[in-house]
Amino acid sequence: MSLHLKSAAELGRGLAAGEYSSVELTRHFLGRIGQGNGRLNAFITVTGERALDQARRADAAIGAGRGGPLTGVPLAHKDIFCTDGILTTCGSRMLSNFVSPYDATVVERLAAAGTVMLGKTNMDEFAMGSSNETSYYGPVRNPWDEACVPGGSSGGSAAAVAARLAPAATGTDTGGSIRQPAALTGLTGIKPTYGRVSRYGMIAFASSLDQGGVLAQSAEDAALLLEAMAGFDSRDSTCVDAPVPAYATQLDRPVKGLRIGIIREFFGEGLDPATGDAVQAALDAYRRMGAELVEVSLPALPLSVPTYYVVAPAECSSNLSRFDGVRFGHRCRDPKDLLDLYTRSRGEGFGTEVKRRIMTGTYVLSAGYYDAYYLKAQKVRSLINADFKRAFADVDVLMGPTSPTPAFRIGAKVDDPITMYLNDIYTIGANLAGLPALSAPCGMVGGLPVGLQLIGPHFAEARILAAAHAYQRESDWHRRVPPAWA
Ligand code: GLN
Repeated sequence: MSLHLKSAAELGRGLAAGEYSSVELTRHFLGRIGQGNGRLNAFITVTGERALDQARRADAAIGAGRGGPLTGVPLAHKDIFCTDGILTTCGSRMLSNFVSPYDATVVERLAAAGTVMLGKTNMDEFAMGSSNETSYYGPVRNPWDEACVPGGSSGGSAAAVAARLAPAATGTDTGGSIRQPAALTGLTGIKPTYGRVSRYGMIAFASSLDQGGVLAQSAEDAALLLEAMAGFDSRDSTCVDAPVPAYATQLDRPVKGLRIGIIREFFGEGLDPATGDAVQAALDAYRRMGAELVEVSLPALPLSVPTYYVVAPAECSSNLSRFDGVRFGHRCRDPKDLLDLYTRSRGEGFGTEVKRRIMTGTYVLSAGYYDAYYLKAQKVRSLINADFKRAFADVDVLMGPTSPTPAFRIGAKVDDPITMYLNDIYTIGANLAGLPALSAPCGMVGGLPVGLQLIGPHFAEARILAAAHAYQRESDWHRRVPPAWA
Protein backbone atom coordinates (compact mmCIF):
# COMPACT_ATOMS: atom_id res chain seq x y z
CA MET A 1 0.00 0.00 0.00
CA SER A 2 1.30 3.49 -0.86
CA LEU A 3 2.66 5.28 2.17
CA HIS A 4 0.12 8.11 1.97
CA LEU A 5 -2.80 5.70 2.21
CA LYS A 6 -1.72 4.56 5.66
CA SER A 7 -3.16 6.07 8.81
CA ALA A 8 -0.96 7.93 11.30
CA ALA A 9 -1.14 4.92 13.66
CA GLU A 10 -0.05 2.56 10.88
CA LEU A 11 2.77 4.90 9.90
CA GLY A 12 3.94 5.05 13.51
CA ARG A 13 4.03 1.24 13.64
CA GLY A 14 5.86 1.00 10.29
CA LEU A 15 8.44 3.53 11.46
CA ALA A 16 9.00 1.64 14.71
CA ALA A 17 9.41 -1.60 12.78
CA GLY A 18 11.98 0.03 10.49
CA GLU A 19 9.90 -0.49 7.32
CA TYR A 20 10.74 3.06 6.24
CA SER A 21 12.45 6.05 7.76
CA SER A 22 10.84 9.31 8.77
CA VAL A 23 13.01 11.12 6.23
CA GLU A 24 11.62 8.87 3.48
CA LEU A 25 8.08 9.43 4.71
CA THR A 26 8.54 13.19 5.02
CA ARG A 27 9.97 13.40 1.48
CA HIS A 28 6.97 11.42 0.22
CA PHE A 29 4.46 13.84 1.75
CA LEU A 30 6.46 16.94 0.78
CA GLY A 31 6.41 15.59 -2.77
CA ARG A 32 2.63 15.19 -2.66
CA ILE A 33 2.23 18.72 -1.29
CA GLY A 34 4.48 20.02 -4.07
CA GLN A 35 2.29 18.35 -6.67
CA GLY A 36 -1.14 18.88 -5.16
CA ASN A 37 -1.15 22.13 -3.24
CA GLY A 38 -1.45 24.31 -6.32
CA ARG A 39 -4.85 22.73 -6.93
CA LEU A 40 -6.17 22.65 -3.37
CA ASN A 41 -4.52 25.72 -1.77
CA ALA A 42 -4.47 23.77 1.50
CA PHE A 43 -1.13 25.06 2.76
CA ILE A 44 -0.13 28.68 3.33
CA THR A 45 3.45 27.75 4.28
CA VAL A 46 5.37 24.54 3.65
CA THR A 47 8.29 24.01 6.02
CA GLY A 48 10.28 21.43 4.07
CA GLU A 49 13.69 21.98 5.61
CA ARG A 50 12.51 22.11 9.17
CA ALA A 51 10.46 18.98 8.47
CA LEU A 52 13.46 17.03 7.18
CA ASP A 53 15.43 18.20 10.18
CA GLN A 54 12.76 16.95 12.57
CA ALA A 55 12.54 13.72 10.56
CA ARG A 56 16.28 13.10 10.94
CA ARG A 57 15.97 13.60 14.67
CA ALA A 58 12.97 11.26 14.78
CA ASP A 59 14.92 8.59 12.91
CA ALA A 60 17.75 8.92 15.41
CA ALA A 61 15.31 8.59 18.32
CA ILE A 62 13.76 5.46 16.79
CA GLY A 63 17.23 4.04 16.14
CA ALA A 64 18.14 4.63 19.79
CA GLY A 65 14.98 2.91 20.98
CA ARG A 66 13.46 6.17 22.23
CA GLY A 67 10.50 6.32 19.83
CA GLY A 68 6.83 6.61 20.76
CA PRO A 69 3.73 5.80 18.69
CA LEU A 70 3.95 9.10 16.77
CA THR A 71 7.72 9.47 16.45
CA GLY A 72 8.56 10.39 12.88
CA VAL A 73 4.93 10.79 11.75
CA PRO A 74 4.43 13.92 9.62
CA LEU A 75 1.51 16.26 10.19
CA ALA A 76 0.26 19.74 9.39
CA HIS A 77 -0.70 22.57 11.74
CA LYS A 78 -3.53 25.00 11.21
CA ASP A 79 -2.02 28.45 10.70
CA ILE A 80 -3.73 29.68 13.87
CA PHE A 81 -1.07 27.96 16.01
CA CYS A 82 2.04 30.02 16.64
CA THR A 83 5.22 28.38 15.39
CA ASP A 84 8.62 29.64 16.50
CA GLY A 85 10.48 31.37 13.67
CA ILE A 86 7.78 30.54 11.12
CA LEU A 87 5.16 32.72 9.47
CA THR A 88 1.85 32.45 11.39
CA THR A 89 -0.89 34.30 9.49
CA CYS A 90 -4.24 33.14 10.90
CA GLY A 91 -5.42 33.46 7.30
CA SER A 92 -5.30 37.25 7.55
CA ARG A 93 -3.54 40.08 5.79
CA MET A 94 -3.18 41.54 9.31
CA LEU A 95 -0.68 38.80 10.19
CA SER A 96 0.72 38.22 6.72
CA ASN A 97 4.12 39.41 7.97
CA PHE A 98 4.00 37.87 11.44
CA VAL A 99 6.77 35.45 12.36
CA SER A 100 5.94 34.06 15.77
CA PRO A 101 8.68 34.20 18.41
CA TYR A 102 7.42 31.06 20.19
CA ASP A 103 5.58 27.77 19.71
CA ALA A 104 1.99 27.18 20.80
CA THR A 105 1.69 24.48 23.47
CA VAL A 106 -0.06 22.20 20.97
CA VAL A 107 2.84 22.58 18.52
CA GLU A 108 5.40 22.11 21.28
CA ARG A 109 3.73 18.95 22.61
CA LEU A 110 3.29 17.32 19.22
CA ALA A 111 6.94 18.07 18.45
CA ALA A 112 7.94 16.53 21.77
CA ALA A 113 5.96 13.42 20.75
CA GLY A 114 8.30 13.19 17.75
CA THR A 115 5.94 14.36 15.02
CA VAL A 116 7.25 16.19 11.96
CA MET A 117 5.62 19.48 10.93
CA LEU A 118 5.09 19.63 7.14
CA GLY A 119 3.68 23.15 7.14
CA LYS A 120 0.89 25.52 8.11
CA THR A 121 -2.57 25.10 6.66
CA ASN A 122 -4.96 27.62 5.15
CA MET A 123 -8.01 28.69 7.15
CA ASP A 124 -10.81 31.22 7.25
CA GLU A 125 -9.51 34.58 8.40
CA PHE A 126 -9.13 34.45 12.21
CA ALA A 127 -11.16 31.20 12.04
CA MET A 128 -14.34 33.07 11.11
CA GLY A 129 -16.19 31.09 8.50
CA SER A 130 -17.61 27.73 7.50
CA SER A 131 -16.25 27.39 3.99
CA ASN A 132 -12.65 28.60 3.99
CA GLU A 133 -13.57 31.39 1.62
CA THR A 134 -12.72 34.26 3.98
CA SER A 135 -8.97 33.54 3.94
CA TYR A 136 -6.69 36.33 2.71
CA TYR A 137 -4.83 33.51 0.93
CA GLY A 138 -7.84 32.50 -1.15
CA PRO A 139 -10.32 29.64 -0.94
CA VAL A 140 -9.37 26.02 -0.29
CA ARG A 141 -10.83 23.36 -2.59
CA ASN A 142 -12.46 20.13 -1.52
CA PRO A 143 -10.48 17.12 -2.80
CA TRP A 144 -13.76 15.23 -3.41
CA ASP A 145 -14.91 17.93 -5.83
CA GLU A 146 -12.63 20.84 -6.46
CA ALA A 147 -15.56 23.13 -7.32
CA CYS A 148 -16.78 22.71 -3.72
CA VAL A 149 -15.66 24.13 -0.39
CA PRO A 150 -13.92 21.86 2.16
CA GLY A 151 -15.82 23.50 5.02
CA GLY A 152 -14.23 25.83 7.51
CA SER A 153 -12.58 27.28 9.30
CA SER A 154 -10.01 24.43 9.43
CA GLY A 155 -10.51 23.84 5.69
CA GLY A 156 -6.83 23.69 4.79
CA SER A 157 -6.20 21.00 7.40
CA ALA A 158 -9.24 19.06 6.18
CA ALA A 159 -8.29 19.25 2.49
CA ALA A 160 -4.67 18.33 3.24
CA VAL A 161 -5.62 15.19 5.17
CA ALA A 162 -8.47 14.18 2.85
CA ALA A 163 -6.15 14.41 -0.19
CA ARG A 164 -3.47 12.58 1.80
CA LEU A 165 -1.01 15.46 1.56
CA ALA A 166 -0.55 14.91 5.30
CA PRO A 167 -1.52 11.91 7.44
CA ALA A 168 -3.24 14.14 10.04
CA ALA A 169 -3.55 17.78 11.05
CA THR A 170 -4.43 20.05 13.92
CA GLY A 171 -7.48 22.30 13.87
CA THR A 172 -9.48 24.56 16.13
CA ASP A 173 -13.20 24.59 16.78
CA THR A 174 -15.05 27.64 18.12
CA GLY A 175 -18.43 26.77 16.64
CA GLY A 176 -17.76 23.72 14.49
CA SER A 177 -14.52 24.43 12.65
CA ILE A 178 -13.07 20.95 13.20
CA ARG A 179 -16.23 18.86 12.91
CA GLN A 180 -17.88 20.59 9.93
CA PRO A 181 -14.82 20.42 7.61
CA ALA A 182 -14.18 16.84 8.83
CA ALA A 183 -17.73 15.96 7.78
CA LEU A 184 -17.43 17.69 4.40
CA THR A 185 -14.15 15.95 3.52
CA GLY A 186 -14.74 12.47 4.96
CA LEU A 187 -12.50 12.74 8.03
CA THR A 188 -12.74 12.04 11.73
CA GLY A 189 -12.47 15.29 13.69
CA ILE A 190 -12.61 15.80 17.43
CA LYS A 191 -13.11 18.96 19.45
CA PRO A 192 -12.29 18.08 23.06
CA THR A 193 -13.88 19.47 26.22
CA TYR A 194 -13.21 23.18 26.75
CA GLY A 195 -10.03 23.33 28.84
CA ARG A 196 -8.71 19.92 27.81
CA VAL A 197 -6.18 21.35 25.34
CA SER A 198 -4.11 24.45 26.07
CA ARG A 199 -4.98 27.57 24.10
CA TYR A 200 -1.54 29.09 24.72
CA GLY A 201 -0.18 30.26 21.38
CA MET A 202 -3.46 29.57 19.61
CA ILE A 203 -4.53 32.92 18.21
CA ALA A 204 -7.73 33.85 20.05
CA PHE A 205 -11.08 34.25 18.31
CA ALA A 206 -13.68 33.70 21.06
CA SER A 207 -11.88 32.71 24.22
CA SER A 208 -14.77 31.00 26.01
CA LEU A 209 -15.45 28.76 22.98
CA ASP A 210 -12.10 28.08 21.23
CA GLN A 211 -10.61 24.61 21.56
CA GLY A 212 -7.78 22.92 19.69
CA GLY A 213 -8.25 19.43 18.31
CA VAL A 214 -7.52 17.03 15.49
CA LEU A 215 -8.56 16.20 11.94
CA ALA A 216 -7.56 12.63 11.14
CA GLN A 217 -8.40 9.55 9.09
CA SER A 218 -9.88 7.57 11.95
CA ALA A 219 -10.88 7.63 15.60
CA GLU A 220 -7.71 5.69 16.37
CA ASP A 221 -5.54 8.44 14.87
CA ALA A 222 -7.59 11.15 16.56
CA ALA A 223 -7.08 9.38 19.92
CA LEU A 224 -3.32 9.16 19.46
CA LEU A 225 -2.94 12.79 18.51
CA LEU A 226 -5.30 14.14 21.15
CA GLU A 227 -3.42 12.22 23.82
CA ALA A 228 -0.19 13.88 22.71
CA MET A 229 -1.58 17.43 22.67
CA ALA A 230 -3.91 17.49 25.69
CA GLY A 231 -3.17 18.24 29.31
CA PHE A 232 -2.56 20.96 31.84
CA ASP A 233 -0.58 24.03 30.90
CA SER A 234 0.06 26.73 33.48
CA ARG A 235 0.26 29.29 30.64
CA ASP A 236 -3.48 28.95 29.91
CA SER A 237 -5.55 29.76 32.98
CA THR A 238 -8.61 27.98 31.53
CA CYS A 239 -6.71 24.75 30.95
CA VAL A 240 -7.88 22.00 33.28
CA ASP A 241 -5.47 20.37 35.68
CA ALA A 242 -6.57 16.76 35.27
CA PRO A 243 -4.63 13.75 34.00
CA VAL A 244 -5.00 12.87 30.31
CA PRO A 245 -6.46 9.37 29.88
CA ALA A 246 -4.70 6.98 27.51
CA TYR A 247 -7.36 7.46 24.81
CA ALA A 248 -5.70 5.15 22.31
CA THR A 249 -5.76 2.17 24.67
CA GLN A 250 -9.44 2.67 25.54
CA LEU A 251 -10.81 2.38 22.02
CA ASP A 252 -12.16 -1.12 22.46
CA ARG A 253 -14.78 -0.20 25.06
CA PRO A 254 -17.92 -2.09 24.07
CA VAL A 255 -20.90 -0.36 22.45
CA LYS A 256 -23.26 -2.96 23.87
CA GLY A 257 -25.46 -1.28 26.45
CA LEU A 258 -24.38 2.23 25.46
CA ARG A 259 -27.34 4.60 25.78
CA ILE A 260 -27.45 6.87 22.75
CA GLY A 261 -29.68 9.93 22.73
CA ILE A 262 -30.89 10.98 19.30
CA ILE A 263 -31.30 14.75 19.27
CA ARG A 264 -34.82 15.40 17.98
CA GLU A 265 -34.12 19.04 17.11
CA PHE A 266 -31.38 17.97 14.66
CA PHE A 267 -33.70 16.05 12.36
CA GLY A 268 -36.19 18.75 11.43
CA GLU A 269 -36.45 21.32 8.69
CA GLY A 270 -33.16 22.30 7.07
CA LEU A 271 -31.61 18.84 7.12
CA ASP A 272 -30.90 17.54 3.63
CA PRO A 273 -32.96 14.29 3.39
CA ALA A 274 -30.14 12.17 1.91
CA THR A 275 -27.77 13.35 4.65
CA GLY A 276 -30.43 12.45 7.21
CA ASP A 277 -30.75 8.96 5.68
CA ALA A 278 -26.99 8.38 5.95
CA VAL A 279 -27.03 9.45 9.60
CA GLN A 280 -30.04 7.20 10.25
CA ALA A 281 -28.20 4.23 8.70
CA ALA A 282 -25.28 4.84 11.06
CA LEU A 283 -27.65 4.95 14.04
CA ASP A 284 -29.12 1.62 12.89
CA ALA A 285 -25.59 0.18 12.85
CA TYR A 286 -25.19 1.22 16.50
CA ARG A 287 -28.46 -0.49 17.34
CA ARG A 288 -27.21 -3.69 15.69
CA MET A 289 -24.02 -3.43 17.76
CA GLY A 290 -26.15 -3.54 20.90
CA ALA A 291 -26.58 0.13 21.76
CA GLU A 292 -29.85 1.40 23.11
CA LEU A 293 -31.29 4.33 21.16
CA VAL A 294 -33.64 6.84 22.73
CA GLU A 295 -34.97 10.10 21.38
CA VAL A 296 -34.15 13.16 23.45
CA SER A 297 -35.26 16.74 23.13
CA LEU A 298 -33.04 19.74 23.83
CA PRO A 299 -35.55 22.56 23.39
CA ALA A 300 -33.13 25.48 23.77
CA LEU A 301 -30.66 24.08 21.22
CA PRO A 302 -32.27 25.74 18.18
CA LEU A 303 -31.30 29.05 19.82
CA SER A 304 -27.61 28.19 19.59
CA VAL A 305 -26.94 30.02 16.30
CA PRO A 306 -28.27 33.43 17.41
CA THR A 307 -26.67 32.95 20.84
CA TYR A 308 -23.30 32.12 19.30
CA TYR A 309 -23.48 35.05 16.89
CA VAL A 310 -23.74 37.41 19.86
CA VAL A 311 -21.20 35.74 22.18
CA ALA A 312 -18.52 34.94 19.57
CA PRO A 313 -18.45 38.42 17.95
CA ALA A 314 -18.46 40.05 21.41
CA GLU A 315 -15.38 38.09 22.40
CA CYS A 316 -13.68 38.56 19.04
CA SER A 317 -14.20 42.34 19.11
CA SER A 318 -12.25 42.38 22.34
CA ASN A 319 -9.57 39.85 21.29
CA LEU A 320 -8.91 41.51 17.95
CA SER A 321 -8.42 44.96 19.45
CA ARG A 322 -4.75 44.00 19.97
CA PHE A 323 -4.15 44.26 16.22
CA ASP A 324 -3.50 47.98 16.09
CA GLY A 325 -0.62 48.28 13.64
CA VAL A 326 1.71 49.32 16.44
CA ARG A 327 3.31 46.26 17.99
CA PHE A 328 3.14 43.63 15.26
CA GLY A 329 1.21 42.72 12.14
CA HIS A 330 0.16 44.87 9.22
CA ARG A 331 0.84 48.62 9.40
CA CYS A 332 -0.49 51.10 6.86
CA ARG A 333 1.97 53.25 4.90
CA ASP A 334 2.74 56.82 5.96
CA PRO A 335 0.16 57.35 8.71
CA LYS A 336 -0.73 61.03 9.34
CA ASP A 337 -1.21 60.54 13.06
CA LEU A 338 -1.95 57.82 15.61
CA LEU A 339 -5.65 57.57 14.82
CA ASP A 340 -4.91 57.28 11.11
CA LEU A 341 -2.39 54.52 11.92
CA TYR A 342 -5.02 52.57 13.86
CA THR A 343 -7.89 53.01 11.46
CA ARG A 344 -6.04 52.42 8.22
CA SER A 345 -3.96 49.51 9.55
CA ARG A 346 -7.13 47.78 10.75
CA GLY A 347 -9.13 48.81 7.70
CA GLU A 348 -6.53 47.31 5.38
CA GLY A 349 -5.53 44.35 7.54
CA PHE A 350 -8.95 42.81 8.19
CA GLY A 351 -11.32 41.29 5.63
CA THR A 352 -15.08 41.83 5.36
CA GLU A 353 -16.23 38.97 7.58
CA VAL A 354 -13.84 39.90 10.38
CA LYS A 355 -15.03 43.51 10.22
CA ARG A 356 -18.65 42.37 10.32
CA ARG A 357 -17.93 40.36 13.50
CA ILE A 358 -16.00 43.20 15.18
CA MET A 359 -18.85 45.62 14.47
CA THR A 360 -21.51 43.20 15.70
CA GLY A 361 -19.47 42.45 18.80
CA THR A 362 -18.83 46.10 19.61
CA TYR A 363 -22.54 46.82 19.22
CA VAL A 364 -23.75 43.99 21.49
CA LEU A 365 -21.25 45.04 24.18
CA SER A 366 -22.14 48.73 24.01
CA ALA A 367 -23.66 50.33 27.10
CA GLY A 368 -27.05 50.74 25.47
CA TYR A 369 -27.38 47.20 24.12
CA TYR A 370 -25.41 45.03 26.53
CA ASP A 371 -28.47 43.86 28.48
CA ALA A 372 -30.62 43.33 25.42
CA TYR A 373 -28.06 41.24 23.50
CA TYR A 374 -24.97 40.12 25.37
CA LEU A 375 -26.59 39.44 28.72
CA LYS A 376 -29.58 37.79 27.06
CA ALA A 377 -27.26 35.56 25.02
CA GLN A 378 -25.44 34.47 28.16
CA LYS A 379 -28.79 33.55 29.73
CA VAL A 380 -29.73 31.44 26.72
CA ARG A 381 -26.30 29.86 26.87
CA SER A 382 -27.16 28.72 30.41
CA LEU A 383 -30.40 27.21 29.15
CA ILE A 384 -28.52 25.29 26.45
CA ASN A 385 -26.10 24.05 29.08
CA ALA A 386 -28.98 22.93 31.27
CA ASP A 387 -30.55 21.05 28.33
CA PHE A 388 -27.36 19.07 27.77
CA LYS A 389 -27.03 18.39 31.47
CA ARG A 390 -30.54 16.98 31.62
CA ALA A 391 -29.93 14.85 28.55
CA PHE A 392 -26.72 13.39 29.95
CA ALA A 393 -28.48 12.37 33.13
CA ASP A 394 -30.23 9.79 30.99
CA VAL A 395 -27.90 8.94 28.07
CA ASP A 396 -24.16 8.28 27.61
CA VAL A 397 -23.72 10.03 24.30
CA LEU A 398 -25.80 12.21 21.98
CA MET A 399 -25.85 11.68 18.23
CA GLY A 400 -27.07 13.45 15.14
CA PRO A 401 -25.78 14.93 11.89
CA THR A 402 -22.69 17.18 11.89
CA SER A 403 -23.76 19.42 9.03
CA PRO A 404 -27.16 19.94 7.39
CA THR A 405 -25.79 19.35 3.87
CA PRO A 406 -22.74 17.92 2.12
CA ALA A 407 -20.13 20.34 0.72
CA PHE A 408 -21.57 23.22 -1.31
CA ARG A 409 -20.04 25.01 -4.28
CA ILE A 410 -17.42 27.69 -3.83
CA GLY A 411 -19.21 31.03 -4.04
CA ALA A 412 -22.68 29.63 -3.32
CA LYS A 413 -23.12 31.21 0.12
CA VAL A 414 -20.47 33.94 0.38
CA ASP A 415 -22.88 36.79 -0.18
CA ASP A 416 -25.36 35.61 2.42
CA PRO A 417 -23.85 35.55 5.91
CA ILE A 418 -26.99 34.18 7.59
CA THR A 419 -27.14 31.17 5.27
CA MET A 420 -23.44 30.64 5.92
CA TYR A 421 -23.94 30.85 9.69
CA LEU A 422 -26.63 28.17 9.50
CA ASN A 423 -24.03 25.57 8.45
CA ASP A 424 -23.04 25.38 12.10
CA ILE A 425 -26.52 24.84 13.48
CA TYR A 426 -25.64 21.32 14.75
CA THR A 427 -22.11 22.02 15.96
CA ILE A 428 -22.34 25.28 17.94
CA GLY A 429 -24.26 23.80 20.90
CA ALA A 430 -21.27 21.71 22.01
CA ASN A 431 -19.05 24.82 22.04
CA LEU A 432 -21.52 26.89 24.02
CA ALA A 433 -21.69 24.09 26.61
CA GLY A 434 -17.96 23.27 26.43
CA LEU A 435 -18.64 19.62 25.56
CA PRO A 436 -16.42 17.21 23.64
CA ALA A 437 -17.77 16.35 20.20
CA LEU A 438 -16.62 14.33 17.24
CA SER A 439 -17.58 13.93 13.61
CA ALA A 440 -17.05 10.61 11.82
CA PRO A 441 -17.79 9.87 8.15
CA CYS A 442 -21.04 7.92 7.75
CA GLY A 443 -21.92 7.94 4.07
CA MET A 444 -21.72 9.59 0.69
CA VAL A 445 -24.33 11.86 -0.88
CA GLY A 446 -23.88 12.65 -4.57
CA GLY A 447 -20.21 11.67 -4.38
CA LEU A 448 -19.57 13.84 -1.32
CA PRO A 449 -18.97 12.65 2.25
CA VAL A 450 -21.31 13.35 5.17
CA GLY A 451 -20.68 13.06 8.90
CA LEU A 452 -22.24 11.63 12.04
CA GLN A 453 -21.79 13.76 15.14
CA LEU A 454 -21.17 12.29 18.60
CA ILE A 455 -21.39 14.61 21.62
CA GLY A 456 -20.29 13.46 25.08
CA PRO A 457 -20.47 14.83 28.64
CA HIS A 458 -17.51 16.92 29.84
CA PHE A 459 -14.22 14.99 29.67
CA ALA A 460 -15.83 11.93 28.04
CA GLU A 461 -13.43 12.07 25.06
CA ALA A 462 -12.49 8.41 25.58
CA ARG A 463 -16.16 7.43 25.36
CA ILE A 464 -16.93 9.22 22.08
CA LEU A 465 -13.63 8.10 20.52
CA ALA A 466 -14.40 4.48 21.43
CA ALA A 467 -17.95 4.77 20.09
CA ALA A 468 -16.62 6.15 16.80
CA HIS A 469 -13.95 3.46 16.67
CA ALA A 470 -16.59 0.73 17.11
CA TYR A 471 -18.50 2.15 14.14
CA GLN A 472 -15.30 2.33 12.10
CA ARG A 473 -14.77 -1.38 12.69
CA GLU A 474 -18.16 -2.05 11.13
CA SER A 475 -17.97 0.41 8.26
CA ASP A 476 -15.43 1.60 5.72
CA TRP A 477 -16.57 5.17 5.04
CA HIS A 478 -13.48 6.48 6.84
CA ARG A 479 -11.21 4.52 4.51
CA ARG A 480 -12.48 6.15 1.32
CA VAL A 481 -10.05 8.43 -0.42
CA PRO A 482 -11.03 10.97 -3.08
CA PRO A 483 -10.39 9.13 -6.37
CA ALA A 484 -8.19 11.89 -7.78
CA TRP A 485 -5.90 11.70 -4.75
CA ALA A 486 -5.56 7.95 -4.11
N1 GLN B 1 -18.38 28.85 11.36
C1 GLN B 1 -18.34 29.39 12.68
C2 GLN B 1 -17.94 30.85 12.61
O1 GLN B 1 -17.86 31.34 11.55
C3 GLN B 1 -17.40 28.60 13.53
C4 GLN B 1 -15.98 28.89 13.27
C5 GLN B 1 -15.05 28.15 14.17
O2 GLN B 1 -15.42 27.15 14.77
N2 GLN B 1 -13.86 28.67 14.29
O3 GLN B 1 -17.73 31.50 13.57
